[in-house]
Amino acid sequence: MARPKKNRLVESPPSNCSFKPVGTPASGLEQVNLSLDEYEAIRLADYLSLGHAEAAEEMEISRSTFTRLIERARKKMAEFLIEGRLLQIEGGNIHFKGNRIQCSDCGHLFEANFNSALKECPICGSDKLIDLAGSFGHGRCCRNHKKR
Ligand SMILES: [Zn+2]
Ligand SMILES: [Zn+2]
Repeated sequence: MARPKKNRLVESPPSNCSFKPVGTPASGLEQVNLSLDEYEAIRLADYLSLGHAEAAEEMEISRSTFTRLIERARKKMAEFLIEGRLLQIEGGNIHFKGNRIQCSDCGHLFEANFNSALKECPICGSDKLIDLAGSFGHGRCCRNHKKR
């Protein structure tokens, strides 16, 4: 019986979403897709070293769901490393808690919330800003997402 999937919360969009081995053209590589919730599981458990219970709470999922999620994510990271795949971060039933904006001129990355209407880079003044949540198809949906 299929239960409707609840949206999981991800702190903010990753600044890089595509990785590959140096020197191998992407066209010759098999792709492995890491969903945004799998990415967040790795960030919380392996990068920030949170315990599973705490990490699960951050994402608003159960501890057992988190454990399955992190195991799947680690398996994919291992495939990427060992087999030299193309890694793409995309998809997943998620919403972001906050957004990040990147300046395409100076590369500066800054935190933003979904209500701010930033027009130019605070560092170099460029108006070529990339809305990272927007590049994953998120934004308004995250702002409207009601917390439990
Ligand atoms: Zn800039
Ligand atoms: Zn969203």
